[in-house]
Amino acid sequence: MGDLRPNSEIADGVHWIKNGYVNSYVIDNGEDELILIDTGTNKKAKTIMQYIRTDLSDKTPASIFLTHHHLDHMGGLFHLDHHFHPRKFAHAVDAEVITGERSSPASRNLLLRPIMWLALKLIGPPSVQGIELIEDGQEEQGVKVYHLPGHTMGSVGFLKGRTFFSGDAAVSSGESIKVGPAMFAENLNAVYSSFKKLGSVSFEQLLPGHGAPILENADQRIKEAIEKYEL
Ligand SMILES: [Zn+2]
Ligand SMILES: [Zn+2]
Repeated sequence: MGDLRPNSEIADGVHWIKNGYVNSYVIDNGEDELILIDTGTNKKAKTIMQYIRTDLSDKTPASIFLTHHHLDHMGGLFHLDHHFHPRKFAHAVDAEVITGERSSPASRNLLLRPIMWLALKLIGPPSVQGIELIEDGQEEQGVKVYHLPGHTMGSVGFLKGRTFFSGDAAVSSGESIKVGPAMFAENLNAVYSSFKKLGSVSFEQLLPGHGAPILENADQRIKEAIEKYEL
């Protein structure tokens, strides 16, 4: 351990699965059932299944926690749901998009709109029902929920022990931590308020939706970024 490689156990009972540019994580408590954080894209669900089969001796992901409704984070949910029948958790605002009750908000960036529309047509997964709603401060299976709206308005982060799973509310460049890409954000002011809120949470490791996990003093790095942004 301490050896930071994708598709391996990077911290005690925490596995990092990298699908192209997006991260998913598996928490193995040493029991039969696993917790999965995010699912990668629609086409990459099989990478996660293969990892579980070979590296986690076929344990069952009994719960899937979703950080937000973007395709690269919840696209694999349909296949994983079909295969494992897990409990599925998301914030109410984003759950509406995941279940198909509401369509994904148009991008703030006009140039991106047709691209996002096309992406939805090409890799948009079928909607998934039966999402259990989680809200700020709730604790579910030892996972504490933090509502971090902005990137999407239902974005959430998860604290498990000393490890924080930030989705796209905070991403990493390997060295430093920053807010997720502005062009995909639903509300940029809220992005920065949520990032500031993250500065009041104490944790050791930050496991982001994109970029390499930060395994030490991650809360300190968040505080440094907050200073840099002058929040
Ligand atoms: Zn996103
Ligand atoms: Zn993302």
